[in-house]
Amino acid sequence: MAKVNPDFLPELKKYGGVDFSACYNCGNCTAICDLSTPEDSFPRMMVRASVVGLEDKITSSLDPWLCYYCGDCSTHCPRGANPGELMMALRRWLTAKYDWTGLSGLLYKYLPATILAFIATALAVIGLAAAYNFEIEPIMHFGHQFEFFAILAVFMVILVPNLIRMWYFLILKPKRKVSFSTYLKSFGELFVHMFTQKRTLGCDDSKTRWLEHLILVFGYLTLLFTTVILDWFHAENILIIALGYLVSAVVFVVTFLFVRGRASRSNENNKFSQPSDWLFVIWLFLLGFTAFCVRLFVDLNLIETNIWLYLVHMIVLVQWAVLIVPFGKWTHFLYRSFAMYFEKVLQTEKALEKK
Ligand code: SF4
Ligand code: SF4
Repeated sequence: MAKVNPDFLPELKKYGGVDFSACYNCGNCTAICDLSTPEDSFPRMMVRASVVGLEDKITSSLDPWLCYYCGDCSTHCPRGANPGELMMALRRWLTAKYDWTGLSGLLYKYLPATILAFIATALAVIGLAAAYNFEIEPIMHFGHQFEFFAILAVFMVILVPNLIRMWYFLILKPKRKVSFSTYLKSFGELFVHMFTQKRTLGCDDSKTRWLEHLILVFGYLTLLFTTVILDWFHAENILIIALGYLVSAVVFVVTFLFVRGRASRSNENNKFSQPSDWLFVIWLFLLGFTAFCVRLFVDLNLIETNIWLYLVHMIVLVQWAVLIVPFGKWTHFLYRSFAMYFEKVLQTEKALEKK
């Protein structure tokens, strides 16, 4: 028998779920959703499961990740139950559920904890700079090493175990049978979705949101490659320098547009932004912008007398790498890509069973 959690509704509200208990189960939202199919019917089922508190049904479902938050269902809900925002809240809740450290839930639910974590990381960077007597070269050297090892550590210690937990909740716990060869055959789907987010195209009438995301994903990944692998801040090759300027500018221009769109609250999908949504876009903007400025100051021979600029960049980078990437909204990008992969795996397995 399905287990009911009576505290689920108030718990979900802490993750941003608003008004969903007003739902009277009419089904308009599912009928209007372009991404809902007879096999994967949402968001009505998820609204019902949330109201009743069917926690296991939600943890074993891919539906929250299959929604790309166009907001159409919220616009057409006769009860103002805001199913689109509920799906967003469920994604935050699932992110916390997958996270073995429990920090994700803490940071999502308690803003003071987030503020304290951001202050602590800023102080740690300043303390480290003081230990190096505020000398620019060793601090920049440390910064470059940090990028590489932080990515590796976050990936191995936090993200890989969390992905295994996601797999456990979606496939192992509900006893879904999947053969090893199906996992292998469907693997390409993971990268297609990770890099193209092509499912957004089925969700929006306008292609602008998809294009912005696509540019941002490629801009962000190229900036990562340029700074971490090609050591952009110390590079002397003109092509590497130009590439770094280009991609950092792309990142901060596109994220500036995101911040402006979110602030205007003009679309259904940005009316209920949570602190985690704001932190993600603002920190990505700051990352691109401060990286651009640091390299500019290096080229103008101003960085040694303006070490504060590198420290600001370093603080933003550390907060991004140790807070937003492993525990914040960045993880949605990863989990959504894996959700699309698991979706393909389950569909392939179902098709094989029918044969
Ligand atoms: S449209 Fe609104 S009231 Fe109807 S099922 Fe969906 S959430 Fe509930
Ligand atoms: S927000 Fe859009 S994609 Fe998500 S459930 Fe609603 S209509 Fe479907």
